[in-house]
Amino acid sequence: MKVGEMAVKRINDWIYFFYIEAADFNYGSVVLHKGKKAIVFDTMECVGNGKRVKDYMIDLGIVDFTVVNTHWHFDHIGGNFFYQDDNIIATSECRRRLEQNKKLIETGGKGEIGRSPSDVDTIAFIETSFPVVYPNITFNSRLELYLEDIKIELFNIHIHTRDCLVGYLPQEKILIPGDTLEAPLPLIIEVGNIPVHIKNLKKLNELDIKMIIPPHGNLERYDQGGYDKSFIGNTIYYLTKILSRANKPNFLEGSLEEYITQAVEPRESYRGIHQDNLAIVQQYYSNNNLYCSKKKQRSY
Ligand SMILES: [Zn+2]
Repeated sequence: MKVGEMAVKRINDWIYFFYIEAADFNYGSVVLHKGKKAIVFDTMECVGNGKRVKDYMIDLGIVDFTVVNTHWHFDHIGGNFFYQDDNIIATSECRRRLEQNKKLIETGGKGEIGRSPSDVDTIAFIETSFPVVYPNITFNSRLELYLEDIKIELFNIHIHTRDCLVGYLPQEKILIPGDTLEAPLPLIIEVGNIPVHIKNLKKLNELDIKMIIPPHGNLERYDQGGYDKSFIGNTIYYLTKILSRANKPNFLEGSLEEYITQAVEPRESYRGIHQDNLAIVQQYYSNNNLYCSKKKQRSY
């Protein structure tokens, strides 16, 4: 696919996945629909692509939209502008981060890359700029939604960023993970929190899950209904291995293939993301932060 092209994948009778190709990875929206209502997980990276998704669903007869922003990163909120008369749901922390970074997002924050060691609260690589439309319904830990007979549990979980939520459909055993799970490997943002991410991925792994529909993944997988639970194992494996090797010689030379499992397919463009991950992990953890954080835990 060419950059900017959109593919629409039917996951089942009432779930669509919208995939827009980008240079290094893709943007994605998961849309659940029943009758004239739809719940849209994430609104792409810009107003125009958010509109493409909404227009597609309007053409199918949808008139009632609810948006869920899985977290505050630009490629998940870019099209909120076209949903400003609809309900938009996110965690309270997501809204707080958007309020704090509104000006930066609206002016295009190039140069304010947020993958630094101290990054727990800064902007994450804005590639574009757009008007910020805030979520109008927020929650701290859990919220339940219904789309006719479909129950959707939203809960905050600190993986990828602190404000992340995931959507879980307990009857169907479907997980909509936002960026808590990314294929083929996670783009590490809040590097100092990797141990917390691993701990919470293990909690996520305790859920009964048959199908996972991540926003960033291999296009062909969406023809097969998404990923299975081994995808969570892949993410735990990647992060655990990266931490265990952080102080080893030749750490920066570790290839993508050494760090991923059979659960995912390598993607060429993720080699650069993987190299960046290794570099920021080495930068952060080479100062004995691993030892310090263990020591700190023991003394409390
Ligand atoms: Zn993200």
